[in-house]
Amino acid sequence: MHDTTFSRPLTFAPMRLRRQVLAALQCGMALSGIGAAYVRMRGVSGAVILMYHGITDREDENWIDPRFAVPVSVFERQMRFLARHRRVISLDELLSLIAAGSSPPPGTVVITFDDGYRGVFTKAAPILKRYNLPATLYLATGQVTRVEAQWIDTLYSLFNARSCDLLHLAEENLGPVNLADPGNARASYLALADRLLPASQGQREKILTEIAQQLRPLRAPPPLTLSWEEVRQLRRLFPGIEIGVHTRDHIDLTACEPQVAVEEVAASVADVRQALDLVPKHFSFPYGRSNSAARSAVIAANLSSAAVTDPAVLVDSDGDPYAMPRLSAPSSMALFPFYTSGAYPQASLEVFGRA
Ligand SMILES: [Zn+2]
Repeated sequence: MHDTTFSRPLTFAPMRLRRQVLAALQCGMALSGIGAAYVRMRGVSGAVILMYHGITDREDENWIDPRFAVPVSVFERQMRFLARHRRVISLDELLSLIAAGSSPPPGTVVITFDDGYRGVFTKAAPILKRYNLPATLYLATGQVTRVEAQWIDTLYSLFNARSCDLLHLAEENLGPVNLADPGNARASYLALADRLLPASQGQREKILTEIAQQLRPLRAPPPLTLSWEEVRQLRRLFPGIEIGVHTRDHIDLTACEPQVAVEEVAASVADVRQALDLVPKHFSFPYGRSNSAARSAVIAANLSSAAVTDPAVLVDSDGDPYAMPRLSAPSSMALFPFYTSGAYPQASLEVFGRA
């Protein structure tokens, strides 16, 4: 066995004190019953759509940016909580309700996963099956075809497994910088993430190759993304998980030409049809970013819904199927009951002035 722990893993700043205080107040609101009372008194209705990315164990911590991961032990507790205390419906059921003009009752939850992490198959799906919970998995189909990690995790892995500390990317105006200093490493990582997010697939590959040549990683990560064969197995073993699409190359559709957006969305639909003999119905915008051209591209591809990232809104009968707001699932259990109660974010906004 390899020693799986690198000596200098990237760390991220802890939650700001103000944020910690707010989180504690929100927990108190849920525990004291104020949140539930708010929901009853205000007649709140609407579903919460939860967004997950990676579901991880200890080994994955070397390779997957923890900001986009929920530990499998936490995920298990969250799903047990949903099965006991919430009403989980599929995205199709939610869209049917909206189309019929009815609002789901508070405590209604839809579960979604973005990108196509292997952990959704190996870790999350058995838990979902145990509790009989439906979910939607949005695939970035080009990454599945290439069994290629998310670029953010490739970057994260290169930083964590590096054997050299000097980084100088003249074309990106970065460095020379010595990554032996943890603050430098963190700042450089975040700067590169900002640079790579709106980049094309080709630009991304070029920059990541250059970084790999300089940092000389000691090891490559194991496959972090599902292959098509694994997606086919997932569908056989876990029919409660519906397959949606998330573009082919996970590019920011608001940062590209409209024609590229059309091609990216259409290509992802074509990939799923070819690989799975299935016509996907649901889409999620990479990074939750949408504009009118991106929205038109989704409609042109005959998809019936599209998810954005917006923690502020419950989905009710006024919901726009092509701008379905989603809430990033918390990576701990503490805030989970409050976030899925129907009281979030409005009760928090009204009482504390912040969500
Ligand atoms: Zn994504």
